[in-house]
Amino acid sequence: MPFDSILGHRIPVRILRSMLKTGQIPHAFIFSGVDGIGKRTTAVSFVKALNCLEMEDDFCDRCLSCQKVNRLVHPDIFFVEPEKNVLRIEQVRAFQRDISFKPLEAKKKAVIIDQAEKLNSNAANCLLKTLEEPPEDTVLILVVAGSTAGMLPTILSRCQRICFAPLPGEDIFQFLSKNGVEKAKAGLITNHAYGSIKRANILIESDFLNRRNEIAGLLSGISPGSFDSIFELSSILNCDNSTLFLIFEFLQTWYRDMLLLKEGLSESLLYNRDITESIRDAAENETRDGIIKKIKRIQWLQSNLLMNMDVQMGLESALMQTN
Ligand SMILES: [Zn+2]
Repeated sequence: MPFDSILGHRIPVRILRSMLKTGQIPHAFIFSGVDGIGKRTTAVSFVKALNCLEMEDDFCDRCLSCQKVNRLVHPDIFFVEPEKNVLRIEQVRAFQRDISFKPLEAKKKAVIIDQAEKLNSNAANCLLKTLEEPPEDTVLILVVAGSTAGMLPTILSRCQRICFAPLPGEDIFQFLSKNGVEKAKAGLITNHAYGSIKRANILIESDFLNRRNEIAGLLSGISPGSFDSIFELSSILNCDNSTLFLIFEFLQTWYRDMLLLKEGLSESLLYNRDITESIRDAAENETRDGIIKKIKRIQWLQSNLLMNMDVQMGLESALMQTN
């Protein structure tokens, strides 16, 4: 699986390959971008290319070194990821010990720290020591999902930043089609994947489209003074938080689409363009200001989802809000 097989990310791959060609490899990188778009895959590919026994600015995926990386048994390549959602100082100290020795087999030792935004402050300060005095022949790659805003500026300034953009819809669509998802469904999932393969897979696994259609049916039945549909809707929110998160995201796209229709914009801009008629029906009972209020309320509920609040009651009051 050489670099050419990585979905999208032509610019990051071009930068990394030119470093491999010239041999000018920084001690530390930050690979940043939204979750599930291939940052870690690219990091693993880069580490394989650094140590491939057959190729210089690419990797063969067949040689002993590439195979050991793939099987996570290479003695000089270390993978670190959060435990219970946190990266702790003990984990940083463990790989600091590992990289203090000369490589056993690799041309360059490497550490890939996944979800590096989850380093707690002790771990981040400990990591800083390695970044200030990097051991020879070692590359650190911090993979960061989302924003780096909460990370220490002293860490950020010591790493070469490589930014990864969300994948183009066409790449997601092709990926889904190749994996046997029929075209119409692949197109709809692509609309809601926001450029992330991981998200596209979650949408498929959680049967998102059927759930969305069920909710859309209820929403288009809401009329002034009749709240039966809202109660029915809130009763189906009795599900796990990750599914609930997807439902809230859908609700936002539903009202966003409604707003675009009210503004007379093209249907081709809608997230849910396959159910435009349902959105139009529901829009008849909504004003522009009322829709904006609902979007804000849903955003607030979504951001407070993890705080054990009564989501059902919150959504009922959000959707009943008068225009
Ligand atoms: Zn190889």
